[in-house]
Formats: sequence, structure tokens, C-alpha cells
Amino acid sequence: MDTAYLRFPDGFPDGLLGLGDRALLRELGKPTLVRIPGTGEQAPRAAVTLLHGDESTGLQAMLRVLRGGQRSYPFDLFVVIGNVEAALHGPGYAHRYLDHQEDFNRVWGHDRETPDEASTDQRRAATGILAELRAAGLESLVDIHNNTGDNPFYAIVPRLDPAVLNLATIFTTTLLRWDLQAATLMEAIQAECAAIAVECGLPGRPESLAFAVDALRRYLGAPPLETDRVVRDLDLLGGLRKVTVEPDIRFRFGGPLDDGVDLVLAADADVHNFVEVPAGHVLGHTHPGRPLPVRARTADGRDVTSEHFAVVDGTVVVTMPTTPVMMTRTVEAARKDCLFYLATELPPPGVAA
Ligand SMILES: [Zn+2]
Repeated sequence: MDTAYLRFPDGFPDGLLGLGDRALLRELGKPTLVRIPGTGEQAPRAAVTLLHGDESTGLQAMLRVLRGGQRSYPFDLFVVIGNVEAALHGPGYAHRYLDHQEDFNRVWGHDRETPDEASTDQRRAATGILAELRAAGLESLVDIHNNTGDNPFYAIVPRLDPAVLNLATIFTTTLLRWDLQAATLMEAIQAECAAIAVECGLPGRPESLAFAVDALRRYLGAPPLETDRVVRDLDLLGGLRKVTVEPDIRFRFGGPLDDGVDLVLAADADVHNFVEVPAGHVLGHTHPGRPLPVRARTADGRDVTSEHFAVVDGTVVVTMPTTPVMMTRTVEAARKDCLFYLATELPPPGVAA
């Protein structure tokens, strides 16, 4: 039977975990859901990897943790391996998603769809996997990603209640409030369990993998989440505004502004991620007299471009203090998702005395 995803309800088949990560992906060939049975003392947990095919750190960390694990966990552990096809394409880990695919991180929770009715392979897989995860009675779920630009390690929280914050701070105390309703898995399942995404820096870097391995081991070794109080101090950014490059604008990062491009962004624009920049901060350069090449929108779609950006003598500047986050350094990511988000510091939720 041709199905949109593979499922292994009794753990990884013999020999699969012994393979290298690429060989394992070749064996799978499609999105995969694995349930690793535990002792059942605690409610199940879930770790999600590779929803973006170019974000290898989550899968590699998960495999390292599972291969080295000496004991069974006190809970069933569900593992999702997402866009296997995109991860395998070309040289490997080179594509967020393929041209004929939807973004596998934007297809979750289309509730009217059943797997058979879902309109694309990605939606069929997402709808089926989500139904199984919802039925599992999860305590918590962690969706592990990488960035396409330099960022500190941080966690994304769709809600600010204690269970979610306590889950996030097992991974890191740098948190980003997400209210963009982007059909992500953490949003689709947040009514059922505490769910977060964790961003592990750039893929392919040893420090990214080390962070993810450490954090996963803390998560898998943590006692049940406290649900009535916030147990750790944290930093919280929010009020996200999505910044995109206008579709007809030709742009690149670094290099001279010439007739071949309409916009040159600073080559090191991503060094400002999670750091507040003042009014007047230079985002890039465009030809004098041209309109703004970027657009900013609030979570509810309101256009706030003119509040945040201006072109002054061919220089694109920000017009009020702001904190850029998730600034990419690739044209592909900027086109397929966005250039970056503007954020503001939020007061931290109360920490119990
Ligand atoms: Zn991602």
C-alpha cells in the first residue's frame, strides 16, 4: 500500500539505527513516525526532526542520543523524521523543500482534511502523523530546527503558560513568542500538549550539534513538567513582524550594487540577530529614487512597512529601535520564507518565588 509516511509503532527496525544518517534516510525514503516504547510511568513525549530538509542537526542529534542510550525511557518516545525526500536530494541537506513540494513546516492542522482527502503529499503525511500524535496523549513535543543565518540558540513558544515555558527552558532560556499562525506542528498540537520549536543555529556546525545533543538529553532525562509555576528565569522576545523582500526585487547579500540587482543586503546582516539595533541602522543599499524593496507585516497581516523602514539616499534603514531575529543569509530562504522578523522585548512571565 502506498502511504504518505512510514510508521514504526514498536521502535526502529533492527539495524536501522546502526546506519549513518544519510543511509538511514535512504532506507526510509519518506516522512517517518517512530514510537519507541518506554516503561509507561510518564506520559509520552515527542521529538520532531527534519521538517525542513536542509536542517540536519535535529536528526543527527536524535540519532546520537538514541544510539548512545543505555536504558528505556519512563515514557513512550515518538520520533518524527520529516522531509526525507528534500533532505536526500542533490548533495544532501541542501533544500528546505523541493520545488514540487509544499513547505513541510506549514501544512499542519488543516482540520477538515483526512489523510485521503488532503491535497498534497505533505498534507497527507502531516494529517496522518498529527492524528497519531494527538491520539498518543503526549505530555510534550519538541520540534527541532536550524536557522539559515547566524542566531543564538533559542526556543519558540506559541503560548506563555508554565508548562510551555518550563519545557522551553529545558533547552534554552532565550525564548521567542510565536503568534503568527503559520500552520506549524507546534501550533497544531498546542491544545493537546506543551509544544515548542527549538532553533539550533546553523546546520553542519559542531556547536549546533553539541547544543542539540545536550538539550535532547536534558529533555529525555527531565521529570514531568511542572504545570502550575514557571521554574526558571528567562528572556522573552515577541510582537513579531515578518519582513519579506518584494517579489520583483533582485537581491543578494554583500557585493557591489550594480545593474544586475535592485538591493544589496549587508553580507553580515545576521550578526545583529537578537541584538537591538537603533534607528538609522543600515539594512542594505538600493538604487536612489527606488521605492522600499522590503515589506513588513504584523501577525494579522497589517502592512507596517512605513513604520519600520525608509530609503534615505539609496540606503535602506530602520526608522525605530528594533531587534532583528531569524535574519537569513541565503536568497533561497528569504524567497521561500522571509528575510527576517522584527521583534520587541516582552516582560518575562512571573517566576515563582
Ligand atoms: Zn526550520
